[in-house]
Amino acid sequence: METLRDLVFPPVCANCRKVGQQICSECRQQIQWVIKPICSCCGRLVVSDQIVICDACKKRPLPLEQIRAATVFTEPISTIIHKMKYEGAFGLGRVLADLMVSAWNEWIIPVDMVAPIPLHPDREKKRGYNQSALLARWFSQQSRQVYAPDLLRRTRFTVPQVGLNAEERAKNVQNAFAVDGCQLNGKHVLLVDDVCTTGSTLAAAAQVLLETGAVAVSGYCLARAM
Ligand SMILES: [Zn+2]
Ligand SMILES: [Zn+2]
Repeated sequence: METLRDLVFPPVCANCRKVGQQICSECRQQIQWVIKPICSCCGRLVVSDQIVICDACKKRPLPLEQIRAATVFTEPISTIIHKMKYEGAFGLGRVLADLMVSAWNEWIIPVDMVAPIPLHPDREKKRGYNQSALLARWFSQQSRQVYAPDLLRRTRFTVPQVGLNAEERAKNVQNAFAVDGCQLNGKHVLLVDDVCTTGSTLAAAAQVLLETGAVAVSGYCLARAM
């Protein structure tokens, strides 16, 4: 939809800078969508549909029912996510969440509520927003699901997961979340995050939700690092 603002300040493609759309049609065509076969648990791409659960999940089972993602974390999505997270381009939240809405038809999980992975308040203050909340809010609104923005909070500061191995990632986010006074008994919660790599952030958040009465937790991310 073209608004007056678009006519005065036409959007540019977050990847190639072409004027007209936030993600131009050429860049949109390069997006790699997650397609089966995938691990039924963590959602990683697997080489054959004979593989139900991947080696990583066999070795270190996740406390989540399943993790699904809309796209593969590769160009142009990786660049666009970087812009949203680190270059103040919060306006990309909706167009990226729309990708999650499109892919949701493939992965629909019946859940009771959608909650974002929170940032530490200091980091959110510095960035001005939580990118996962931007995605989760628009995604839940467009897919007509209950949105629980303040379900979780960070209890301590954690270093970014980038550059850490699976074990270090799990340790880094252990006990980093808490649930704020909410009736979770019997509820299935869908956690939303921008990028999923080993699933350790989702796992740490899921753990505390399960300890607080949730019956199941699933994860849905914009992009899956493979
Ligand atoms: Zn483009
Ligand atoms: Zn797996």
